[in-house]
Amino acid sequence: MDSINNIMNNFYKSLGEAAPQKTLNDAFPSVTGSIAEEEKASDGTNGLKRICINENCSACGICYGSSEHFAALADGKAANKYKVLPQKAIKEVEGIIEMCPSNAISLADSEYASENVSQFLEKAKEAYKKVIEDTLPNVEFNGNNYEIKCPDFNLRSDRRGVSKSYDRTDRDGFRYFKNSVFPYTKQIIQNMLIDYKTSTLSTFYNIKNDPNNFYNQTNEKLSAELASIAMAAKDLFDIEIDIEKFQELSIQPQTGIKGLKDIYSYRLEHLEEIYIADTVANEIDVDGYQYYVEIEDSPYANDKYTWCILELVREWYKDIRRELTFYMNSYDSPIHEIINDMKLPYEGQVKSAWEDKMTVLSKLLPTKTA
Ligand code: SF4
Repeated sequence: MDSINNIMNNFYKSLGEAAPQKTLNDAFPSVTGSIAEEEKASDGTNGLKRICINENCSACGICYGSSEHFAALADGKAANKYKVLPQKAIKEVEGIIEMCPSNAISLADSEYASENVSQFLEKAKEAYKKVIEDTLPNVEFNGNNYEIKCPDFNLRSDRRGVSKSYDRTDRDGFRYFKNSVFPYTKQIIQNMLIDYKTSTLSTFYNIKNDPNNFYNQTNEKLSAELASIAMAAKDLFDIEIDIEKFQELSIQPQTGIKGLKDIYSYRLEHLEEIYIADTVANEIDVDGYQYYVEIEDSPYANDKYTWCILELVREWYKDIRRELTFYMNSYDSPIHEIINDMKLPYEGQVKSAWEDKMTVLSKLLPTKTA
């Protein structure tokens, strides 16, 4: 290599010109520079790639069954394991692209492709934020998603309670609703809150060993992100880095006065016991339903009436769902405050752990260039 350079330098010298480096590399691409230089893309980003899977994936499993660079999703479809595909694995993955029966795999530029150390470090330092945001579940409450659980009420008086007086039947129907049905308002709301917390919020308070909780899932994704960063650093700057060690990360929210669970997770776990159910139940006025009692001719006795509160109960259910949805998504709701009170300190812990990793990384990287 040196001899070729010398010959070229001497040639240009004899012409009285300095040999341009670009011309040397262009003229002898297979023998000039390191492997990394050879593979440098025209945009100067080293051609760093990532795997992309499109919606045509038929979940056949060929890719993730034969390469560690693919992962299987819960529905059997494929995903990329890391955001970076090491140069040395490109050939292997190109072979799998050929084998994919659905033409669902392609290679695209990695988001960690960078022109220099500073640019790369900037991207790496900010990466944890997006991981946390992407892992955050949607905690919005929608009352229509929850079943109304309450005892089986008499929705018609039928044989019982039939009366000759239309007005009296009307009053009896409403009295039955007011005394025997409406008092369950708070319990219904509490049941909906229990369903909501177990289906949606439990990810924030099951902080022990549940692999699906917010913290463990976020740790796993952060760790994969660190592995991607280390792979990118290795390919871009040709450094020695222990990827397995670099990606080690295990952060749990701070523990508090409830032993393994802090006060915030305790409030989430006992959501139905705090003031929400009382507050919402108080918004629902029983007297607003008295005009919904329906009076029908009794099918069992001539000249007598029977009451029906089927429509009334439907309205009552609708109001419970609407009032609870409105309250839970309002500024007064304690949900967002409780979650933020848990999430923000956790984000602080992640930020600090991430900064430590970035310090390790920047010491391994070549001296930054502008
Ligand atoms: S080989 Fe293709 S179709 Fe099969 S799981 Fe992988 S991406 Fe999907």
